[in-house]
Amino acid sequence: MYFKITKVRFNPQKQIFTKNLVLSIKLLFPLLIMNSLFTTAQHVIPESISNQANIALSHFTELNETSITFKFKHNIKKSTMLAQPNFWSFFKSRKKRQYKILISEKILISGKEYLTSDIPNDVMIGWLGHELGHVIDYSNRSSLNLLWFAIKYLFSDKYLMKVERAADTHAVNHGMEGYILSTKNFILNNSEIDEIYKARIKKYYLSPEEIMKLVNDRDLMN
Ligand SMILES: [Zn+2]
Repeated sequence: MYFKITKVRFNPQKQIFTKNLVLSIKLLFPLLIMNSLFTTAQHVIPESISNQANIALSHFTELNETSITFKFKHNIKKSTMLAQPNFWSFFKSRKKRQYKILISEKILISGKEYLTSDIPNDVMIGWLGHELGHVIDYSNRSSLNLLWFAIKYLFSDKYLMKVERAADTHAVNHGMEGYILSTKNFILNNSEIDEIYKARIKKYYLSPEEIMKLVNDRDLMN
């Protein structure tokens, strides 16, 4: 062992190499740390919806440091958008949890197909705001609680209603009522959308009247 070290010391070429290596590590190390700091605060957003997503995110400043990836998906079962924690996040602390918001490429509302680019800006912002409301809800839950949440969400209609209304409530309490109302009106006042879908929206989500009441209550509190 000792012999080996002595041999290295007397090899000038290797000494220069080691010196350079140490110097590179010293220079790189702060960069690596800085890089990891920036990436923890990252929101990944597809270019085509970056304006709308950033407007929605600006209402949720407490999510500035939370990793959220917005992603288009070819087909999402039964829904237009879906917010969920990344699978591996269940094994991490609540603060390090990562989320994704999946957006259907084609938004299908009761048989009528809309391309994401056809959806008016305010409607899209409201939709994204509702999903960020879900993220706020998840961020308040432990991993164990989230597992329970997933089971109840799948099997209980009443729970589904509670969760969807909670997401709307979070968005309204974050000042997004105008956008949330635009999204509701887009569906409820659209003659091309059938009554069954409208009834579903009325059942699971907050009504425009309930939103106005929330806004009044919120403003009275401040
Ligand atoms: Zn929802």
